[in-house]
Amino acid sequence: METNLLKCSAINLKRNTPAYLASWKAPPAVFKSSKSEAMANLANERVVCAPLDMLSEEEMMMKEMVKKFAQERIAPLVKTMDANAKMDESVQQGLFEQGLMGIELGPEYGGTGSSFFSVIVVVEELAKVDPAVALLCELQNTITNKMFTTYGTEEQKRTYLPRLTKDLIGSFCLSEAGSGSDAFSLKTRADKKGDYYIINGSKMWISFAELAGVFFVMANVNPSLGYKGITCFIVGLQVGKQEAKLGIRASSTCPVIFENVKVPETNILGQLGQGYKYAIELLNVGRIGIAAQMLGLAQGCFDHTVPYTKERVQFGKSIFDFQGMQHQIAQVATQLEAARLLTYNAARLVEAGKPFVKESSMAKYYAAEVAALTTSKCIEWMGGVGFTKDYPIEKYYRDCKIGAIYEGTSNIQLSTIAKCIAQEY
Ligand SMILES: Cc1cc2nc3c(=O)[nH]c(=O)nc-3n(C[C@H](O)[C@H](O)[C@H](O)COP(=O)(O)OP(=O)(O)OC[C@H]3O[C@@H](n4cnc5c(N)ncnc54)[C@H](O)[C@@H]3O)c2cc1C
Repeated sequence: METNLLKCSAINLKRNTPAYLASWKAPPAVFKSSKSEAMANLANERVVCAPLDMLSEEEMMMKEMVKKFAQERIAPLVKTMDANAKMDESVQQGLFEQGLMGIELGPEYGGTGSSFFSVIVVVEELAKVDPAVALLCELQNTITNKMFTTYGTEEQKRTYLPRLTKDLIGSFCLSEAGSGSDAFSLKTRADKKGDYYIINGSKMWISFAELAGVFFVMANVNPSLGYKGITCFIVGLQVGKQEAKLGIRASSTCPVIFENVKVPETNILGQLGQGYKYAIELLNVGRIGIAAQMLGLAQGCFDHTVPYTKERVQFGKSIFDFQGMQHQIAQVATQLEAARLLTYNAARLVEAGKPFVKESSMAKYYAAEVAALTTSKCIEWMGGVGFTKDYPIEKYYRDCKIGAIYEGTSNIQLSTIAKCIAQEY
């Protein structure tokens, strides 16, 4: 009788056990951390898939072209542009001339007609030499041009895209003094008056506002609807004084103020009240571009430093030859490779039309971490000279910090990754 009771309570106990406590009974279906899938039509053929960092002929050509352009036309100006906190006009002009401001746009708009992956390769290559220049190219390609191609009317595309490949720079105005990570609590308002809107409010931290000729301004047309009132307007504006920054100094960052700015209704991008959605969708893509910027920056810094460690002699041998140094260098090189693979994979997912939100946040988060570690280590490996302005290492160290802040801070990336994980289990 007693044994039966015991048996009974054991069964009850089992029945009442929540699923998460049945640790060894989980069917394989719950193991979702790896979501490999078979490539359509290739599953049964012995096809060898290309390694992630293998580039197509076109991507390779772009990479080589940008490398040459960056070495010849940007590298000699980097130090001065950083000191003066001003991008040299020849650099902007060069980006347009080389077709780097409309990489994915078709020839009908004066674009290069290449792929999203090429954008990533180009940004990485530019960032090796100057992350501020890379940012200009990155924002134009992943935000400005994409805003028009994804949500713009035919008229808006015809008006702006040919200029965006030629001489016009775009700016994306979402953040405000009171709304950074909590971007959709923005206070800028757009009030309808007949067939136009009046915009009042102000934006903070707007990249390239000083150089831009077209602005995407997120403003709320009906605050009672909360974030669902946020609408994207295409606006031409005057901007405030540029911020004095720690890094990426050649990229201007300015406040933008709106005092009764009159904007015709036809300048709404896409649909009324959909601005928040456009911002989320494009920032998800843009983050891969920032990951590429951080990756290029870290690689550029590493490439400057390792040769120094092989030349610098202490205790009668090159400092590279000390095992203590080799292990650190090997660790950083491994992390750089991991950041590259995360970034490239996120970009390939975009191109394949697959879900990429988690991977995009992972790439941005991790590449920013790796950039911070790499640049910090490179200064240490260079010793005293790494700490001076005679070498570019301290600039990479300053430039990398922004990677953990804009287009969503590292905490926000981790929250996004966690949200995706919560949905998977
Ligand atoms: C150089 C530069 C260029 C920029 N360019 C642009 C641009 O072109 N357009 C544009 O619209 N904006 C731009 N920004 C703004 C940028 O996107 C914001 O600075 C960023 O989103 C962070 O907002 P915040 O500065 O208000 O920081 P806050 O949101 O105040 O964050 C401060 C800290 O709190 C943490 N935190 C906040 N909320 C949470 C949370 N829920 N969970 C955990 N931690 C949290 C953050 O991670 C961070 O560590 C730029 C910023 C800089 C510095």
